[in-house]
Amino acid sequence: YTDIPVSENALEPRRGGPKNLPIAEVLVDDDDCPENSKQKHKPKLVLLGSGWGSVAILKTLNPEDYHVTVVSPVNYFLFTPMLPSATVGTLELRSLVEPIRRIVSRAKGHFLKAEAVDVELSEKLLEVAQTNAQGEECHFYLPYDKLVLGVGATTNPHGVKGLENCHFLKDIEDARLIRNKVMQNLEQACMPTTSDEERRRLLSFVVSGGGPTGVEFAAELFDMLNEDLGRSFPKILRNEISVHVIQSRGHILNTYDEALSKFAEARFAHDQVEVLTNSRVKEVQKDKILFSQKDEKGETVTKELPMGFCLWSTGVAQTELCKRIADKIDVQTNKHALETDTHLRLNGAPLGSVYAIGDCSTVQNNVADHLVHFLRSMAWEKGKDPEKMEITFPEWRDVAQRVKKRFPQAADHLRRLDKLFEQYDKDQKGTLDFGELHELLLQIDSKITSLPATAQRAHQQGQYLGRKLNKLAQAAPGMMVNEVDYGDLDEAVYKAFEYHHLGSLAYIGNSAVFDFNGLSFSGGLMAVYLWRSVYFAQSVSLRTRMLLAMDWSKRALFGRDMMNY
Ligand code: FAD
Repeated sequence: YTDIPVSENALEPRRGGPKNLPIAEVLVDDDDCPENSKQKHKPKLVLLGSGWGSVAILKTLNPEDYHVTVVSPVNYFLFTPMLPSATVGTLELRSLVEPIRRIVSRAKGHFLKAEAVDVELSEKLLEVAQTNAQGEECHFYLPYDKLVLGVGATTNPHGVKGLENCHFLKDIEDARLIRNKVMQNLEQACMPTTSDEERRRLLSFVVSGGGPTGVEFAAELFDMLNEDLGRSFPKILRNEISVHVIQSRGHILNTYDEALSKFAEARFAHDQVEVLTNSRVKEVQKDKILFSQKDEKGETVTKELPMGFCLWSTGVAQTELCKRIADKIDVQTNKHALETDTHLRLNGAPLGSVYAIGDCSTVQNNVADHLVHFLRSMAWEKGKDPEKMEITFPEWRDVAQRVKKRFPQAADHLRRLDKLFEQYDKDQKGTLDFGELHELLLQIDSKITSLPATAQRAHQQGQYLGRKLNKLAQAAPGMMVNEVDYGDLDEAVYKAFEYHHLGSLAYIGNSAVFDFNGLSFSGGLMAVYLWRSVYFAQSVSLRTRMLLAMDWSKRALFGRDMMNY
């Protein structure tokens, strides 16, 4: 098939839908495709986004089975785990991106550089916005038989004032802006007209958020300042520069094993990266950051930190498109992500027509239910009736540990449960029965639904969906284009999605930490090489692997390029 007419001038397209917009058609070349051929009646599969989830689908999908269209405002796939390295020039920006059209062509699909703005669920029409040659925004509908939402997430502002004074790190453009700002501050600090006080402010770098992204950025910045500053900016003394990480929890990297968080904190202490824990940013002003901190007595005090640069990296929030979709569906009540069933189908959408994967979604996978399930199997293993079994504190800890391995993101909730159980243990009798445990589960939010917002999860979900779409096409060719109720085909052809947590890793400045499913370790140079090889192997193409290898060699031989672009 040829192309999709998208503008109103092209071939006078059919109009329709609730907003009476032009409707883009998939054009099938009639010579090649007789009226009733399989080719002509292939279902229309629309993938939103060119990130981890969509790329995993494209790489798994059987190219013959669907008319594939990918819609994304950017025409590249970004290898996010290495993005912090691009902010200081350890890696070049182009080494982290792969043109999406190359990947789409593998699935014999189309790519539209445009943004999805709305979905008419009952009419299976996706509203797309595109900027035309005159710079005007035009909207059109793209019909689909199956739609996959893989639009990722945006930065979570947490209601804090002054975020316009911060930098973010989500996209390649963010990395470029950060690199330029860091360089600009270093250049300004060298000016003879800059006062000492102003110089210290310009060289005060603050990272708000002690998760992997914030920590890796702080580590990369520290490396650059240590390794390349002296050569390029001999007038700036290392002790004039300060790097601060503000973290709301008690530890940085708090979803990792506790020993690893402590290792990372010790490493930062050694490298003079200041970690401010139990601290919450209240407001970011142009030249300073205001935050509250709990002191040793548990009292909250407000403090000020002069700064020349602030990175805001405090978790993810829903995109506008996802909010709009959630507003249309009564059962979508989760404020953080679109909820799907375990087959990754969007809850509340017509069955089997819309799927959501990656950061924009959460599988309704009740952790509390899993806890009960594990406790039940423990009872059966011991030959006891689960409903009558009494659970001791060590037994509870064993079960909680198993659940934590499967749902690392529930670690905090499980710790809260541990505390409740411990208190209960002290106050009363030392054991709980099932009914009592259920009450405890209700005291915390018993519906801990989220999965981690990671590339690992988006990739697994994309692969799962690609395989399922292949099976659906084989099991019932053409079923998605005919308006026939085939029942729950997804369940009939493929198992439910199961997340397998393979582990977490983070770079912490000439050393790295690994948390592989209960096996955690940390270390220096060897760990850094292991960290690099994991990502090198995962990198999306031979082209990007070659570029990464060249960047690392160039940096080792000549240092980083200390300049603006
Ligand atoms: P994304 O990869 O974010 O892709 C979303 C896509 O949707 C983008 O192409 C975007 O342009 C497009 N899009 C957005 N809105 C629309 C719209 N309206 N219409 C059409 N398209 C749209 N995870 C790890 O597992 N390990 C790590 O080490 C790691 N490090 C990270 C470091 C950084 C700096 C960042 C930012 C993230 C990191 N992550 C890491 C998280 C990981 O990148 C995300 O979890 C992953 O990208 C999610 O994949 P996704 O497919 O859901 O969304």
